[in-house]
Amino acid sequence: MALGASWVPLALAVELHMPRGGAPRRMKIRTACGSGRVVEAAARPVATAPGSVSLVLISEESMLLPIEKYGSPVLRTVSAPIKNIDGYVVALAQNMLETMYAAPGVGLAAPQIGVNLRLLTTDVSSGKEPHQRIIIANPEIVEVAGEQNGEEGCLSIPDFSEKVRRPQRIVVKGISLDEKELIIEAEDLLARCFCHEVDHLNGIFFLDHLSAIKRGLITRKLKHLIKDGKW
Ligand SMILES: [Zn+2]
Repeated sequence: MALGASWVPLALAVELHMPRGGAPRRMKIRTACGSGRVVEAAARPVATAPGSVSLVLISEESMLLPIEKYGSPVLRTVSAPIKNIDGYVVALAQNMLETMYAAPGVGLAAPQIGVNLRLLTTDVSSGKEPHQRIIIANPEIVEVAGEQNGEEGCLSIPDFSEKVRRPQRIVVKGISLDEKELIIEAEDLLARCFCHEVDHLNGIFFLDHLSAIKRGLITRKLKHLIKDGKW
């Protein structure tokens, strides 16, 4: 979820087109990123459309990842559950946190950096309070109560925001990076943030919660921006 302002990505993303049915392979890639450092980066092909895969580079060192924007098919895809918390997932989560803080945002879902896995990061204190830093795999909203109506933005739809109705309080269940069950009771901004990010894992934008008229106005503007190459 966006907190305002924009940023310049430092990382590389590589797209590799493979024949339909081509077996995904895990590979190590050396890449220059940041201020010219060369780091080892793991890449795992992720299917984004029939007949193609996208390689999203992640690094065991801090690395910012480019954020996918509205119009990218990866953001309309339902993400797959994480089966094992392995080194790739841990590094992915770390890279997501760095990217979220740099954006700056208070929440980020893996599809927003091009990976259709059910993983998200949040920190509604924007890095000021360490206990607010949350990484959760396979999150599920298991209880909702009350209602709030507040302004919401998205790192994948920069410069647009609208009032969105969300539950006031929720309970989220998921898995931590050390494979323990997490049960988080959230309210206010954190509840809104979880709802927004879990939506991303299901291919849903905050725009989808607006009235047809408001949604139509914004999507028409977005289509024009995409068509004019300004997106
Ligand atoms: Zn978003």
